[in-house]
Amino acid sequence: MKVLVINCGSSSLKYQLIDSESEQVLAKGLCERIGIDGSLTYQKAGGEKEVSELAMPTHKEAIQFVIDALTNDKTGAVASLSEIDAVGHRIVHGGEKFASSAIVTDEMIKEVEECSSLAPLHNPANLIGIRACQELMPGVPMVGVFDTAFHQSMPPKAFMYGLPRRMYTDYGIRKYGFHGTSHSFVSKETAKFLGLDLENSKIVVAHLGNGASICAVKDGKSIDTSMGMTPLSGLVMGTRSGSIDPSILEFIAERENISLEQVLNILNKESGVYGLSDGLSSDFRDLGSAAEEGNKAAEEALDVFCYRVAKHIGKYITVMNGVDAIAFTAGIGENDKDTRKKIMEYFGYLGIEIDDEKNSIRGENVKISTDDSKVAVCVIPTNEELMICRETVALVK
Ligand code: AMP
Repeated sequence: MKVLVINCGSSSLKYQLIDSESEQVLAKGLCERIGIDGSLTYQKAGGEKEVSELAMPTHKEAIQFVIDALTNDKTGAVASLSEIDAVGHRIVHGGEKFASSAIVTDEMIKEVEECSSLAPLHNPANLIGIRACQELMPGVPMVGVFDTAFHQSMPPKAFMYGLPRRMYTDYGIRKYGFHGTSHSFVSKETAKFLGLDLENSKIVVAHLGNGASICAVKDGKSIDTSMGMTPLSGLVMGTRSGSIDPSILEFIAERENISLEQVLNILNKESGVYGLSDGLSSDFRDLGSAAEEGNKAAEEALDVFCYRVAKHIGKYITVMNGVDAIAFTAGIGENDKDTRKKIMEYFGYLGIEIDDEKNSIRGENVKISTDDSKVAVCVIPTNEELMICRETVALVK
């Protein structure tokens, strides 16, 4: 099957056309500045990247341009639209309604709309993409793959906050977790790569990108994760604060004479390693070089990040009563050997040792712990688009 994978944001849309048999990407790209001026990036496998400025008042025009590019006589990846067998859509929030991916139907769309209050910036954008595809590709089966679904296996002791029960029953306030598609993909790949029986395994996945979260995967299921009702909690991230004492919100609002919304903006966009480094950068490459040159704030930002990650990994090892493997993924997890090493230095007590040579390999699945190490540590590049393609094929077939 040829599956078009769509990840739709409020003013952007990323896409990949994947052959599900070979799992090869046939073409990929993105539309940006939808509703502003519009640009389309398109790249066929093995071909040059093409960028065109195109008027895209809405997502519908954007998707039409994607279809035109995919079916273009000269550079298209397919001869006609009829070759696209299914569309897989990333959807951010499935609330408690979706514990797995789902075929797109009117009923399903209604349920996704009901989850929108939990992700007011993301779900409506995801739905716009679904509706535009429905209009332009009538009859093509579509599947929604949720960031939250993988974490629906968490038990109440992991997802309940210590708040009055009615906050949960009346408003759905609980931990949902995010990056589920990545945690699911990486835990499965880790088990396959290391020859573990997934159904009988304990894996900690560290998805460390600009947004970052850790997941405890026991017997193939998420039993706890560091993000919460929103992606703001847990680890210190690129620009997000991660978990902080909740009383700080009122304290900042009073001291700075700003609204709660403005405080949340600081917590989401001006905090994390960016805030800790005094606005130097949220990018670990910049922070690493600044720290090497003696910038104390950058060094401290990296220390805080690694310490918080290590604490979460430690917590999850405890709740799983052990660990078979720790897997690093996403931008920092896949590329930053120094950060991986620094995090793993906290786990000497578990007999974990990092092999510096293997830790320098990039772009592939690799075990970075020594053969003597009691717990396997690996780097497993994530591939959320491929996971969405696999889920789509499983449901459509
Ligand atoms: P992601 O959100 O998964 O795309 O990750 C993006 C982040 O990964 C960037 O902000 C950087 O902090 C980090 N990153 C990407 N490449 C590297 C690299 N070569 N070395 C260190 N960090 C990197």
